[in-house]
This record gives sequence, structure tokens and C-alpha cells, in this order.
Amino acid sequence: MGSGEFVAGLVDLLLPGGGCGGCGESGPPWCGDCATRLGAPLPVVLPGGPAVLAAGRYRGPLRTALLGYKERGRRDLGPPLAALLAAAVAPAVPRAGPMWLVPAPSRPAAARARGGDHVLRLCRALAAELVAEGHEVTPARALRLARRARDSVGLDADQRAANLAGRLRVCPGGLPPPGTDASRVLLVDDVVTTGATLRACRDALAGAGVGVGTALVLCDATGRHGR
Ligand SMILES: [Zn+2]
Repeated sequence: MGSGEFVAGLVDLLLPGGGCGGCGESGPPWCGDCATRLGAPLPVVLPGGPAVLAAGRYRGPLRTALLGYKERGRRDLGPPLAALLAAAVAPAVPRAGPMWLVPAPSRPAAARARGGDHVLRLCRALAAELVAEGHEVTPARALRLARRARDSVGLDADQRAANLAGRLRVCPGGLPPPGTDASRVLLVDDVVTTGATLRACRDALAGAGVGVGTALVLCDATGRHGR
């Protein structure tokens, strides 16, 4: 074994399941082929809002990469996934002046099982990415989910939404400053499916006097994309 192979072997040991998070090819955590297949970011039309931008659809390499990041401990996928979000949102945000990124909160039990809140981590990586591009961005952990009030098994979509909304809590210390313009507040989540989570988060923030301009998600699973 040459020294290069030895080092590669060590890297494999240190980064189990490494390689591209989308297709599994050895190399960077998000390869050029997967980037090409992803295509351009897309607007998602949600009845009742809010406006949503998605880095891509919930399928193929992007879905595989998100599941690797979320469920399989591939934390190395955080920066490339954050870069996809940054590319999606950059045209929609003002370059000058402060912006706030509010992560949609995870269930405490789910976050514990995953070794941390993956959306919060993604949000922080996104903030770092945007700051590196010259934006003034602060993650604002303004929402949390209270422990499960009732099991959501067997509830229909409206009941689940009501259950979720009833468990959302505003963290006053994490809110953007009073009077912040809504265009400077972005909600961040990993996947949008029915939009119930994003609407509940928007409404909870509105109840605390904070408007939300746009929601930014990695994956669109609604089928309601704008193109
Ligand atoms: Zn790939």
C-alpha cells in the first residue's frame, strides 16, 4: 500500500460513509454530477403561504443527501447543503443590512435521537455561508416545540396542524429585534410537505410581532412547485 492509499484508508476510517452524499461516488460530499442534476432553485406555491424557496425537489441525490445528513450522521454534508440553500436564497435577500434566519424547531425527542437539531445546525451553516458572501446574517432561535402534547398518530392534516401549532413556543430572547422588517426574516426548514409547519411557525412569530418574508427549504415534497 502506498502512502496515498494509506491516507485515503485513514480518511475512510475517520469519515464512515464518506464520498458524495447524493450518489455515493468517492470524492467531495456533494459532487459535480449531483450539482448538475439538481438544477435551479424553485419557488413553491403554498395555499395560505408563506412564500417558499426550495433548493430542489425531494427526490434523487438531494433526498439521499438530506437523509444522510439528517438520519445517518453525515454532518460533513452540512456545509454543501447550506451552500445549496445560500445559492437558492441569495437573489432574494438584500445584500445590505441585517437578516435573521429562524430555524423551524425539531421535536425534542427527535433531535435527541439524531444527536442534535439538524435544522438548527443547517441554519448556522447557512448563516456562515451567507456571511462569507458579505451578508449580515444572524441565526435567531426564536421557536421551540414543547414536549408532545398528544400523539399525532391517527390525526388528519388539520388536526396535526392544530396539534403542532399548540406546541410551538416563542423564545423571546431569540427573536429578531422589535420592528424588524418582514423581508429580513427568513424561516428555514429541511423539507416542506403540506406547509403546516411553516404556516404554524409564521403564525407563532406573527403573534410575537415578527413578520416573515420568505421560507427557505432544502427540499420541496409538495408537488406544488411554481415551474
Ligand atoms: Zn454525487
